[in-house]
Amino acid sequence: MTLNRRSFLGTGLAVGAALSAPRVIGQARPRVVIVGGGAGGATAARYIAKDSAGAIDVTLIEPTRTYYTCFFSNLYIGGFRDFASIGHSYGTLASGYGVNVVHDWVVGVDRDARTVTTAGGHSMSYDKLIVSPGIDFVDGAVPGWDISAQNKMPHSWKAGSQTQLLKAQIEAMPEGGRFCMVAPPNPYRCPPGPYERISMVAHVLKASNPTAKILIVDPKESFSKQALFEEGWQKHYPGMVERIGPDFGGANVSVNPDTMEVDIDGSVEKVDVCNVIPAQKAGHIAEAMGLTDDSGFCPIVPATMQSRVDENVYVLGDATIAGDMPKSGFSANSHAKVAAMQVRAALTGSRAFPAKYSNTCWSLIDTDDGVKVGASYAPTDEKIAKVDGFVSQTGEDAALRKATYEESLGWYAGITTDMFG
Ligand SMILES: Cc1cc2nc3c(=O)[nH]c(=O)nc-3n(C[C@H](O)[C@H](O)[C@H](O)COP(=O)(O)OP(=O)(O)OC[C@H]3O[C@@H](n4cnc5c(N)ncnc54)[C@H](O)[C@@H]3O)c2cc1C
Repeated sequence: MTLNRRSFLGTGLAVGAALSAPRVIGQARPRVVIVGGGAGGATAARYIAKDSAGAIDVTLIEPTRTYYTCFFSNLYIGGFRDFASIGHSYGTLASGYGVNVVHDWVVGVDRDARTVTTAGGHSMSYDKLIVSPGIDFVDGAVPGWDISAQNKMPHSWKAGSQTQLLKAQIEAMPEGGRFCMVAPPNPYRCPPGPYERISMVAHVLKASNPTAKILIVDPKESFSKQALFEEGWQKHYPGMVERIGPDFGGANVSVNPDTMEVDIDGSVEKVDVCNVIPAQKAGHIAEAMGLTDDSGFCPIVPATMQSRVDENVYVLGDATIAGDMPKSGFSANSHAKVAAMQVRAALTGSRAFPAKYSNTCWSLIDTDDGVKVGASYAPTDEKIAKVDGFVSQTGEDAALRKATYEESLGWYAGITTDMFG
C-alpha cells in the first residue's frame, strides 16, 4: 500500500497519524475500513475501536463533517427540536477512540486487492470492509422528478439542507394553501417516517395556517402504525389530512416541479409545497461494488452481517436486505454491533456471541402524543426473523403517550452517544 502523506493534507483528513504510518510486516495491526459514517458506520467504528482497545486500525470514510440525523428531523420540522440539536460531528470518534476519520467519498473498491479509492485520490487497504452508505433514489421512480428538482420539490429523506428547505417552504405557504406528499413504495427508509412527517406538518399548519390542507398520495395499500396515525390526525387535525391510496390512483402519480402540479391518475392538482419521497435502493457505492441484487439492496448473512457475495465485506443498515427488520437507525445500530463483534473475532480471535437484533421506531403525532412499534429478531439461515414485537394501541391515555414520547428522547440521546461517543 502506498500512502502519500502530502496528498492527504488539505483533503479533510481529521486524524492522519495512524493512516500515514507505514505497515511493517509482522507488526501491522489488522485494518478495518468503514464506508459511511451514519447510524451503521459510526456505531461500527466506535465499537470496533473501543472494544479492540487499539488492536485494530479503524478508518471511517464519510464526506460530511456534520452528520444530521434523519431521526428527529421530523421533530425539527414540527418545531420540537432546533436544527443544531440533530447535528453531530466526528471529533470524539477521532480524539476519544482513535478512529481515523477521513472526510471524503469512496468512489471505488477493488474487492480482490482489498483496496478502497476515494474521490480525493487516495487508496487504502483493508482486511475487513464495512459498508453502510444508506439509500439512494431509484431513477425515474416519480415521473417528472429527478434530483435536479429537489429544490422545488424536496425529498428531505436525507437530513440536512433538504430538511431546512422543506421546513422553510411549509412556513412560507400561502394562507389556506396545500401541502402534498408523494409517499414511497416499500421497501424504504423508516416505514413510519412519512406519516410522522405529515403529523409534524399538520402540527405547524394548525398553529400558523389552520385553513391549509395536506394531501398524501400513496402507492401502498397500508402503512406502518396506520390506525395510530389516523386516530391521531382525526383527534388533533380534523379535516386537514387527506390520503389517496392505490385504489384511487395513488400509485399512478407524476409531478411537474415548474408548475407545482401533481398528476394523480390523470387528475391534475395544483399544490404549494410538494414533498416527493421517491422509491429507494442501496446507496450507490454498494451497487458499484457489486453487492446488490435485483432488488437494489444487499443480501447479507443473517448471523454475521457479511455480504453474501464477499466474506471480507460487511453491509449494514438501510442498504441491506435485513429480513423482517425495518430500515431504521435503530436497526442499523443493531446491525453494527453484530458486525463489530464478528469483525473483532475474525481479526483478533476475540469471542463472538450469537447475533441478536432489535428495533423500536417511535413517532410523534402531536405534543406529548408519542407512539411506538418494535420487535426483537434472530438470524435464521434465510433471513433475520422477527421473534416477538409490540406496538402502541389506539385509545391509550395521555400519560402513556407522554411517557412514550419521553422514552424516545432518551433513545435519541442514547443512540447518538452510541454512534459518536
Ligand atoms: C424523516 C426520517 C425520520 C426517521 N426517523 C427515524 C427514527 O425515528 N428512528 C430510527 O431508528 N430511524 C429513523 N429514520 C431512519 C434512519 O435515519 C436510517 O434508517 C438510518 O440513518 C440508516 O443508517 P445507515 O447507516 O444505513 O445510513 P445513513 O445513516 O444514511 O448513513 C450513510 C452515510 O454514508 C455516507 N455515504 C454514502 N455514500 C458514501 C460513499 N460513497 N463514501 C463515503 N460515505 C458515503 C453518507 O454521507 C451517510 O452519512 C428516519 C429517516 C427519515 C428519513
